[in-house]
Amino acid sequence: MKLNIGVIKGDGIGPEIVSEAMKVLDRIGEVFGHECCYTQLLMGGASIDVNGVPLTDETIGLARASDAVLMGSIGGDAGTSPWYQLEPSKRPEAGLLKIRKELNLFANLRPAVLYDELKDACPLKEEIIKDGFDMMIMRELTGGLYFGERKTVDIDGVRTAYDELTYNEKEIRRIARRGFEIAAKRRKKVTSVDKANVLDSSRLWRNVVEETAKDYPDVALEHMLVDNCAMQLVKAPGQFDVILTENMFGDILSDEASMVAGSIGMLPSASLNETKFGLYEPSGGSAPDIVGKGIANPIAATLSAAMMLRFSFDLDMEANTVENAVSQVLREGYRTADIMAAGKIQIGTREMGEKICSYI
Ligand code: ATP
Ligand code: MG
Repeated sequence: MKLNIGVIKGDGIGPEIVSEAMKVLDRIGEVFGHECCYTQLLMGGASIDVNGVPLTDETIGLARASDAVLMGSIGGDAGTSPWYQLEPSKRPEAGLLKIRKELNLFANLRPAVLYDELKDACPLKEEIIKDGFDMMIMRELTGGLYFGERKTVDIDGVRTAYDELTYNEKEIRRIARRGFEIAAKRRKKVTSVDKANVLDSSRLWRNVVEETAKDYPDVALEHMLVDNCAMQLVKAPGQFDVILTENMFGDILSDEASMVAGSIGMLPSASLNETKFGLYEPSGGSAPDIVGKGIANPIAATLSAAMMLRFSFDLDMEANTVENAVSQVLREGYRTADIMAAGKIQIGTREMGEKICSYI
């Protein structure tokens, strides 16, 4: 099959790690008989340098015309980069928020998996992680506090600020459906996370998730308050399969979960809309501290490409092949600097990409 892939290499380590992920995709194409056609797209700092703005209509159009977009990372060092002299709406990250909204990418998926081979990088006690964990955090990405009205006013000389948190039932239902569909293909459990003891938006969330659950009788549903969930993630992470939650809770919990899994350089993400289209990117950022050193871990970008094969192209076998190749490389003891441990063999970004290809 022909895979039309938009590629945003982006800023910082983005170009280094995406190049390796593309090699892996090409290797998959060779082995399974697919043709990967790439369109390079500019966004973030790279777009500011050329076009003066972080995201152009041309890039949005080209992204729309692709089946899926693979992205590196956006942004740079806020202390030193001239991009951050610009007003917030013109900085690299503004492009990211805009493309999510323009392409209606409402479902953000971030798996947090503890690789057997990397248990030594996990900050949790051995007894807690002896059975490992493998969860998928599903964060609503285009609603809630991030997109509500906000203002700061003066009331009798006292500065007062408002941020509005709004969800309607349609927004909740579409993310809930996505969550149940994904859980149905995994271990068939959804933990819906809210603050229903306090917030109206959470009470509606809970109601709509319960209504939606009726269409998925094979999937177990439980509700959990967000404060308890934050605690359970470090106490017993193995209990989770799919965590379904709103925008800000998801932001916070997914960062917590990725730290619990050990290394930011390992974790991919996907942002999906109602179609098969998706934007796939590593969970980590542009890592200005290691740019150009050839030591960035390309595994998160590579696993993002695997998520793309699975969700946008329904190529489960190909996705599994990539994931197995990554596990194999780790099992053989090859590590980039960020996941290095005693007795292992340290390799750079490029060698890691080549090793993964060699196991496909
Ligand atoms: P952003 O705001 O874009 O999320 P950030 O400020 O959270 O960025 P990152 O760019 O994610 O920060 O970097 C955090 C730390 O993780 C840095 O020390 C960076 O070098 C490291 N890091 C991030 N991604 C990788 C990677 N792929 N390989 C190795 N180290 C990484
Ligand atoms: Mg970050």
